[in-house]
Amino acid sequence: MARYSGPVCRLCRRERMKLYLKGDRCFKEKCAIERRGYPPGQHGQRRGRRTLGYGLQLRAKQKVKRIYGILEKQFRNYFKEAERQKGITGENLLVMLERRLDNVVYSLGFASSRPQARQLVRHGHIQIDGRKTTIPSLQVREGQGITVKQGSRKNTHIQSSIETARGRGVPEWLDLDADNYAGKILRLPTRQDVKHDVEEGLIVELYSR
Ligand code: SF4
Repeated sequence: MARYSGPVCRLCRRERMKLYLKGDRCFKEKCAIERRGYPPGQHGQRRGRRTLGYGLQLRAKQKVKRIYGILEKQFRNYFKEAERQKGITGENLLVMLERRLDNVVYSLGFASSRPQARQLVRHGHIQIDGRKTTIPSLQVREGQGITVKQGSRKNTHIQSSIETARGRGVPEWLDLDADNYAGKILRLPTRQDVKHDVEEGLIVELYSR
């Protein structure tokens, strides 16, 4: 699956918010948003620019895509699926993104960022109910157990991420047994579990044009 491989701090600056794409660095003073919290490019510091209409909708979509590390085509497929499901399309969309295995691995603290979580899954370090899986986009289900493979538990990146996660806590819909490198899906997430500052209604408006 294709992925964005350019400079990621630029994406945060474009969205004017932390998207937490670089692990520990995002919590330090070195974070680009702390040092240069304006959009990149030669016009980034221009004053008095207001984003309206289409621009707002576009930014809302880009922000969500970048938080979860999804490219346009796959994101559009998520949207189509969200439309097919019962309920509110925007909320369905966010819930599906939240249920991605790489997001769960990150939320449990096995990785310090979603890109790192995706790599852990791809490289076979993660198991679902004891079986290896290498598909970051897999939708987790209620009751499933997510564990780090026995042979990967000495991985220093995983160990330091878990230590950080102990202090940070995990979302209410997940349970973490940090000592055993194990997590559980207590229930499926809802819109209230998505803590990012995103306006999914604008994304629906954008794709309904
Ligand atoms: Fe974004 Fe992290 Fe870079 Fe800060 S350090 S700009 S939060 S990716």
